[in-house]
Order: sequence, then structure tokens, then C-alpha cells
Amino acid sequence: MTPPSIDPAVLRRMPKVELHCHLEGSLRSSTLIALADHHGITLPTREPRWLYRYHDLAGFLAVYEVACAVLRTASDFALVTYEALEDAAMSSNVRYREMFFNPTLHPDISYQVMLAGIVDGIRAAEHDYGIRCRLIPSIYRQLPASAALEMVDMVAAHRSEYVVGIGMDGDELLDPPEQFVAAYAAAARAGLHRGAHMAHDGPASFITTCLDGLGCERIDHGYHVVDDPALMERLREAGTPFLCATPTPPLCGWPSAFDESPVRRMIDAGLTVILNSDDPTMLHTDLGTEFDKVCNGWGLPPSRAKRFVMDAIDAAWCDASERAELAREIEPELDRMLGLRTG
Ligand SMILES: [Zn+2]
Repeated sequence: MTPPSIDPAVLRRMPKVELHCHLEGSLRSSTLIALADHHGITLPTREPRWLYRYHDLAGFLAVYEVACAVLRTASDFALVTYEALEDAAMSSNVRYREMFFNPTLHPDISYQVMLAGIVDGIRAAEHDYGIRCRLIPSIYRQLPASAALEMVDMVAAHRSEYVVGIGMDGDELLDPPEQFVAAYAAAARAGLHRGAHMAHDGPASFITTCLDGLGCERIDHGYHVVDDPALMERLREAGTPFLCATPTPPLCGWPSAFDESPVRRMIDAGLTVILNSDDPTMLHTDLGTEFDKVCNGWGLPPSRAKRFVMDAIDAAWCDASERAELAREIEPELDRMLGLRTG
């Protein structure tokens, strides 16, 4: 076996920034079960080992909806936000994270109450671990386009310094992006950043729709870009950030062999790939593990490990002064830990 090109412990401990992670996909299974018990919700299984098992995107989304269903009160949201950030800080030394949540999948609680709970969790985690967090309310595309527009209007009406943009997730093939033009136009009018899960399970053409039709600035996943060389070249030249997560392509029909991951082809093609854990507990991973898998699995040099983090800082939706502050704090640590600069 070839030795790792970078010490896995260094990859785990070095400071990181994560831009694609779902709050509801970060619930500890034990917390999910405890909250279900508390609210009298029946689960498909009460065995933590079996809760997060699925073979395709539909199975995954079914469990994701269960995770959404157990979050009913502000204190539920505060608890799971705190735990998600604690896990990121402790497992992978994440210093800044942008986290999605799906307001429309929690119909029994108002947006304002949900947001207040999440912000309480963020503040407590920042106090205890120094990790910072911003939020991206995400459209769930299986709900009607009118619900998406209502959600964006709600986000715009209750602006918070913690909310930096909107996203979109769910099954792309059932509900293509062009249905959501009005919601994205409303987000643009409100001055919100825009992103969406695209070309994950849908075709490469959805990337063009999302960038040119919805005004998206970043590409969440985007794996099917590898099917369209001309589009790949356009996005390489533009340096458009791709927020990737290696565990999800096999759920959408990509080969399960890690070496055949589209993420590898995207990195080799010179795209601006940023590593993420996506749904860390539900996908049995964390960001440190992802860095080890990608850097050592594909023999990448320490300079590439650093670039994943620096590109994430550049692509973050916090304001420019906070990005500069993150770079000032993190870059010297990366150089030292990865042996990139001496003296
Ligand atoms: Zn995602």
C-alpha cells in the first residue's frame, strides 16, 4: 500500500472552511431518536446503526424528511445547531461554516422562531469553540414553486446578519430549476446570494439554467459537468466554485468506486473544487475525513490541500472583511502544518 502523501492527522487538525452542509443532515442519530421520543414521533427504526442507511437518493431524502420532522421547537433547533457545529469544530477544526436549512420542511414552526433557535445554537457554539456560522435557507424543490417564493419573501422580510443567501435542494429530475425563476428573482431583489444543488442527479444543462436563468453564483455538487467539455472549460476559466461532497455521487447513480468519482475528474480538469461533508452524520463522514480521502486517496500534494481551504474562503458569502480575516487567521497555520513555508 502506498503511504499517505500527507499525514492524515494533519489533514484532520488543520483549520478549514466548509460551505455546503445541511443542518438537518447533521443530526446525531442519538439526538434524532431522543427528539422523536420527546415529540411522540414514530421512526422506521430506533436502532442508531440502522437509521442512516439508504441505497439511493430517494431513500436518503426519505430519512432526511424524518430528520426534519423531529425538529419542532426553537430549543430543538438550538440543540441540533450547537451539536452540528461542535462536531465540525471537534472532528475537523472547521473555523467557519455555511449551513443550509429547509424552512418549508418544518411547517409546524414559524420561520422567525426556527431562525431564533438556530442563531442561539450558533452563538453558543461560537462562544465554546470559536467556530463561526452563516445560514442559507434552502428551497425544497419537491414543494410548489409558490412555496419557494413565499419562503424567499419570508427570508427577505426577516433579514438577519446570519442569513447570507438562498439555496435549493431535493430531487432535481422531478422538479427542474426553471420552475423557480420567480423565487430567485425575489432573492436577487432582496440582495441575497444565490446557489442551488445542480447537475447532481440532473443533467449538465441544469448548470446553465441555474447560472444564467437563476443567477446562481456557486454550484452545489455539479458533477454532471463532466458530461459537457465546453461547459467545463467555461467554468474552469471563470473559476466558478463547485461545492462538492464525495459521498453523494454513488447515491445518484455514479460508480461507487472512489477512484471513479466525478470529483476526481473535476479536480484533474482544473475546476475550482471545494470539499464539503454535505450531510456529515447521515453520510457517516466529517470534513477531516473528506480531506484525507481526497488528498491521500488521489495522491494530491500539500499545496492542493491548502488550496481547497483558501478557495473555500474566497467563495464564502460572508462579507469581504470577514473573508480577509479568515485568510489572515488560517493561511499561516496551513503553511506551517502542511510544511509549505519555513521561517
Ligand atoms: Zn447538499
